[in-house]
Amino acid sequence: MLTTQEYRALDALSDLGVLVPDLKKTAADFYPVTFRPQDLDSLTAKGLVARKAMMFAPACPNCTALMLTPNGSCPTCREHSLTTIPLLHHIPCAGIFDAPEGIEQVEQCPKCRSQIQPDSELLETAGEMHYCQTCETRFPDPVISMYCHQCKNHCPLHDARFSQVHSYAITEAGKNLLKRST
Ligand SMILES: [Zn+2]
Ligand SMILES: [Zn+2]
Ligand SMILES: [Zn+2]
Repeated sequence: MLTTQEYRALDALSDLGVLVPDLKKTAADFYPVTFRPQDLDSLTAKGLVARKAMMFAPACPNCTALMLTPNGSCPTCREHSLTTIPLLHHIPCAGIFDAPEGIEQVEQCPKCRSQIQPDSELLETAGEMHYCQTCETRFPDPVISMYCHQCKNHCPLHDARFSQVHSYAITEAGKNLLKRST
């Protein structure tokens, strides 16, 4: 036998097809109020609902929201005024250098001093560097932290708490039970 709440949740799930969490909300409000976590748990235990791990998602350690955006900062001063500088490879001399103005503006190889024609096939891109406009340092990769849209805090990714986020769907047994009771 199902409780009224469980029955209501099963019926609503049957209409819905698949129940996915609203990741813009905090964990307590992932699912509409019809789908109380305890009812989803007991329906799953009874085999009427199938639960699937949809994500292993990082949550904000401060407020538990999943609304996190990775944000890069300078490893030295932590500011965000960063630009990307292409790295170029001069094939004849194996020189690697950065080109803050872009590949089109390079007229001479800084290593071997030879002239470089526009559209030269002897020059190729070889990754990128980053430049901080605040402290004027160059570095390979920005430090990535997670910005939380809910509480507006930043946290390092390793401080985020990972947890399973589930989707739910009605099983054949669940459909049969609804059919029998209508
Ligand atoms: Zn800096
Ligand atoms: Zn060169
Ligand atoms: Zn937060």
